[in-house]
Amino acid sequence: MQRLKVAQALKSTSVGIEVDVRGWIRTKRESKQGFAFLELNDGSSMGNLQVIVDGSVPGFADINKQLTTGSSVRVTGELKESPAAGQRVEVHAKTLELYGTADAEKFPLQKKRHSFEFLREIAHLRPRTNTFGAIFRVRNALSRAIHNFFQSRGFLYVHSPIITTSDAEGAGAMFHVTTLDMVKRKLVDGQVDYTEDFFGKKASLTVSGQLEGEIFATSLGDCYTFGPTFRAENSNTTRHLAEFWMIEPEMPFYDLQDNMNLAESFIREILTEVLAACPEDMAFFNERIDNTVMATLRNIIDNDFLRLSYTEAVEILMTCGEKFDYPVEWGTDLQSEHERYLTEKKFGKPIILYDYPRQIKSFYMRVNEDGKTVRAMDVLVPRVGEIIGGSQREERLDVLLERMQECGLNPEDYWWYVDLRRYGSVPHSGFGLGLERVMLLLTGMANIRDVIPFPRTPKNADF
Ligand code: ATP
Ligand code: MN
Repeated sequence: MQRLKVAQALKSTSVGIEVDVRGWIRTKRESKQGFAFLELNDGSSMGNLQVIVDGSVPGFADINKQLTTGSSVRVTGELKESPAAGQRVEVHAKTLELYGTADAEKFPLQKKRHSFEFLREIAHLRPRTNTFGAIFRVRNALSRAIHNFFQSRGFLYVHSPIITTSDAEGAGAMFHVTTLDMVKRKLVDGQVDYTEDFFGKKASLTVSGQLEGEIFATSLGDCYTFGPTFRAENSNTTRHLAEFWMIEPEMPFYDLQDNMNLAESFIREILTEVLAACPEDMAFFNERIDNTVMATLRNIIDNDFLRLSYTEAVEILMTCGEKFDYPVEWGTDLQSEHERYLTEKKFGKPIILYDYPRQIKSFYMRVNEDGKTVRAMDVLVPRVGEIIGGSQREERLDVLLERMQECGLNPEDYWWYVDLRRYGSVPHSGFGLGLERVMLLLTGMANIRDVIPFPRTPKNADF
């Protein structure tokens, strides 16, 4: 007897063997002759395994009524070729064991289409649906592809801390981490006295692992972080989460060109690998969620990314005649509408924008010879907009200190970061990729809340 996952049983060529399969009933049909056809799913694949149960199976008559949608069973029996269309094999049950029932009146996932909004309210059950099963299998394949990409190139996986006391680069508003009693905490000159707090100073959840990544890059070489990051921005958009997963490679001896080249190969390779790993799930997204998904992905994989300086982009945006909600002029940050115009309408392919005005970018980005721009780069893709933000880092001590001052930061708070420029400083670069933004691209899902297992957004951290 072979214990098989549904995915393995569906692919098996060993017709005639005895199998043991376990899972949840998606649907049941009964024939007049007293057979029951169970569609069994255990999450291992989009497809269900058909199980045929007849009166000869011990105890079947007693439990038949309880074999409802959502109930869980163990089946042993013979794997046979299936005469039915659309499936190669089926199982003829010899034994059937009911693990857990699911009241047909109450089980929320009956066989009808549910809105994604409703499914978010039952996030503990939504992974049992076709759509969310596919999403989380793809998310797994994507995570593996990301590790494969870096591991195959000898990058070191670094676990950057989640709790931090450095106000990392102002990438976003931070969540505080404290054990102080909100009511009884002591104020000194109207300020909270953090010396009394757990860490003895103000601590927060990290918004980025970059600064710590730089420490490792400038000692152990190419490395990457892959972990949760937290931003307390109160922006209720379809592209922002308060807790999201970020991948941040950091490479010594890389200039901006090297950085852009790596980012481009990275996107292309991880998409290719997921397409190969999850053909069924990807076909499902293209058929049922958004029929432009495959074409968009192929376009990204097959074409070179366009490289465009921020200054060129602004010229295009100012003269294109398109009506935008936010006006564009040199020196302003580009909005999502501008990014999407460029990548969707104007060029119809991914774009890497580079050399941004220094006043709109972080202190650690390398200042260009013109003194006005920094070596920043953003990767923009159709449908999603920005998926990567990165830069060549400022390796010159004097320029870094000047930039910190300009950005209102105290170098003493970043003494260890500044030290990296004091002792054996090297040119280096890195970028950050939002995992959920890639998931939007891959699945065609419209809302970022639906591509992470348990979304955290303003006023919502259930489950
Ligand atoms: P955006 O302009 O889209 O808000 P950002 O410029 O603030 O993003 P970065 O600091 O450059 O973001 O972060 C690097 C990457 O992390 C982004 O390119 C994006 O893919 C992702 N990212 C940033 N903020 C969020 C968020 N709140 N939710 C999900 N992903 C995010
Ligand atoms: Mn960015």
